[in-house]
Amino acid sequence: MYDYVIVGAGFFGSVFARQMTDAGAKCLVIEKRSHIAGNCYTDDVDGIHVHQYGPHIFHTNDEGVWNFVNRFARFSRFSYRPKVNFRGRMLSFPINLTTLHQLWGVKTPQEAERRLQAERIPIENPANLEEWVLSQVGRELYETFVYGYTKKQWGREPKTLPSSIIRRLPIRLTWNDDYFNDRFCGIPEGGYTQLFQKLLSGIPVETNVDFLADRCRFESRCKQVVYTGPLDRLFEYELGANDWRGLRFQHQVIQTADHQGIAAINYTDAETPYTRSVEHKHFDPVQSDHTVITHEYPADWQVGDEMYYPVNNEQGEQLQQRYLAMLPKNYLVGGRLATYRYYDMHQVIASALHLATKEIARDKGRVLRTSAHPPLTRR
Ligand code: UDP
Repeated sequence: MYDYVIVGAGFFGSVFARQMTDAGAKCLVIEKRSHIAGNCYTDDVDGIHVHQYGPHIFHTNDEGVWNFVNRFARFSRFSYRPKVNFRGRMLSFPINLTTLHQLWGVKTPQEAERRLQAERIPIENPANLEEWVLSQVGRELYETFVYGYTKKQWGREPKTLPSSIIRRLPIRLTWNDDYFNDRFCGIPEGGYTQLFQKLLSGIPVETNVDFLADRCRFESRCKQVVYTGPLDRLFEYELGANDWRGLRFQHQVIQTADHQGIAAINYTDAETPYTRSVEHKHFDPVQSDHTVITHEYPADWQVGDEMYYPVNNEQGEQLQQRYLAMLPKNYLVGGRLATYRYYDMHQVIASALHLATKEIARDKGRVLRTSAHPPLTRR
């Protein structure tokens, strides 16, 4: 009998399994795909660690999370500084003084601020992504960096999307072109898959196993299920399906040492069909005379496709809440798919650590109250 059957070997399930195993619980991790690591999965293609489901750059402000992941990998000092290609012109991104110098020739924060003041469109209460960006930086920057990319990415007009999608990107009037503001940032040397192998070491993991195809058997083998898949699928779409954006990746080996000179280029015009080209060897550098490039094509999504970006409209939120209310008592949920939230890796890890801490405390409380069950002990 397992204490926990954990469905899904992405960050949420794997971190929870690690913490509970170290506290003395008996865990089994099952994974539908043929591999662990969820969408962080990296595959070794002729010595280059390829991010198979899109680039994953680890960043966090949370020292506890940073210390935790550093137990399982050494992180390089990579920081994410993508470039934008807009109709063939290469520009610095996210918007910073270099960008504004390239576009307008300004050289100081004061000059940049004066120019932005003239560009900003006064909109008192921006009601959507388009209005918010226009009110922050004006039309030229909106059309150069945001309109085309966002329309491709989400398959709809930016004026129909919430501004929360883009507010995570910095706009800086300094020469700093780092994509993230976080204190800690890096890429696990050796790839994410190796990090997950260490994270899950000593814990039984079964890949190519679909929990839902054998749900009763798994439920009968454990006290609690930790489910990290989508809730609509768990309930066989009884109330309907949640909406996602899909992605298609085109991976390509090229016989050149360095194809684009940087990890990622965003194509921000509406005409180029892909949003990004990624050159994986810049994440985790290796010497080789070949390279792997991935073009990322946003795609409409339908049930059965891989899920990437949740379309968090009101209808989706309501559906998610209704499914949550249907969860059996012995189910715990977490992670991007089950919570229907576009989380960064560090947020998922923090929530898994939090849940594990709660479970350990709950178990200790139960032992104190009943003394019927040996306590979970730390190794
Ligand atoms: N975005 C944009 N232009 C860019 C990059 C991002 O307009 O060159 C917008 C777009 O709407 C996107 C959002 O910013 O959905 C968040 O971007 P982020 O880089 O966080 O997306 P991710 O890398 O997670 O796909």
